[in-house]
Amino acid sequence: MSRTILHLDLDAFFCSVEETRNPDLRGKPFAVGGKPDERGVVASCSYAARQFGVRSAMPMSRAVRLVPHLVIVPSRHRLYGEVSEQVMSRLRSLTPLVEQISIDEAFLDLSDLRDKDPRQIALDLQAGIRDELGLPCSVGIASNKLVAKIATEVGKKGAKKGSPPFGLTLVPAGQESAFLAPLPANMLWGVGPKTEAKLAELGIHTIGDIAAWPEADLVRRFGENGRELAAHARGQDERPIVTEHETKSISQETTFTRDVSDDKTLERTLRELAAEVGRSLRRNDLAGKTVKIKIRWPDFTTLTRQTTLPQPTDSDEEIVKTALKLLHAVRKPRQAVRLIGVGVSGLGAPVRQLGLWDAGSEKSRKLQEVVDQLQEKYGKNVIRKGE
Ligand SMILES: [Mg+2]
Repeated sequence: MSRTILHLDLDAFFCSVEETRNPDLRGKPFAVGGKPDERGVVASCSYAARQFGVRSAMPMSRAVRLVPHLVIVPSRHRLYGEVSEQVMSRLRSLTPLVEQISIDEAFLDLSDLRDKDPRQIALDLQAGIRDELGLPCSVGIASNKLVAKIATEVGKKGAKKGSPPFGLTLVPAGQESAFLAPLPANMLWGVGPKTEAKLAELGIHTIGDIAAWPEADLVRRFGENGRELAAHARGQDERPIVTEHETKSISQETTFTRDVSDDKTLERTLRELAAEVGRSLRRNDLAGKTVKIKIRWPDFTTLTRQTTLPQPTDSDEEIVKTALKLLHAVRKPRQAVRLIGVGVSGLGAPVRQLGLWDAGSEKSRKLQEVVDQLQEKYGKNVIRKGE
């Protein structure tokens, strides 16, 4: 039985939220983001601004050159987070099978709602989110996540210029590959600029070109990715919806009152946050396989980086070590930071290894337990393991 997956993406989300708070902005070219003289970037731009070629992630100085009368609105991330949560809880009231993939995007599995027409569900969602929250969104519906997401993008692209797309694109089961065939190859997941260039050398430009290419040759050229590429190009994608419960994570973050560029301070903060994460993992008798960091730069752009460990961990040391590695990979020395966070996900019961060869790690786990107990009793500043 084929599934019904709905992908929803709020249109120009930050800008749309700002418009609900300040209706004067409606229809004007404006951008949310940092100031041009402070090397700010465009976090989100209105559809009127897009007509002049302004795009998100563009330096604000460039955006202002394109549109001299561009209105610049500072980001209000807490507000966007709150509004996002309102949208997500609305989605969850329809079905618990919701996978939020970013602040303004989610997948829903509608397969169990057989008695309702998916197109009508989408129209009701769009109308509800517009009427109650004042926000436009686009929707794609298909038999899997890959095609549903691309359907949303196609709907957005086909929209009338200068206003929110409110796209709604439905790909009937069985028509996945026909729908994808004429689209450019780089609309497929996993086709970045490098792969795109390699494909172009072979004369492959559309997703249909990939689907028609012998799979064995794609595997020879791109390894396992080649196999995935072939399946995706045919419109096949078996990945399930992963709900919040399953991606549950334990995390801690802190926003500095003043941006911090001192490496030592940042590392110490990361250590403290990692120790708190470790403590709450152990208190809940959990360990996690994925360690994640979150960084917000002074211009409010935010990035996360994560890495998956071979074994689940609940150890402060391992979390710190991994988090520092991730931090060093994305941040130049002395680069200013506004917010930093550490989290662990992929949670499950801790794996205890009591073998002789692991006596060292067992010992450090015992020590950690004692430290936790002391901190529980006397506060977390009373004792700290040597750094
Ligand atoms: Mg969006």
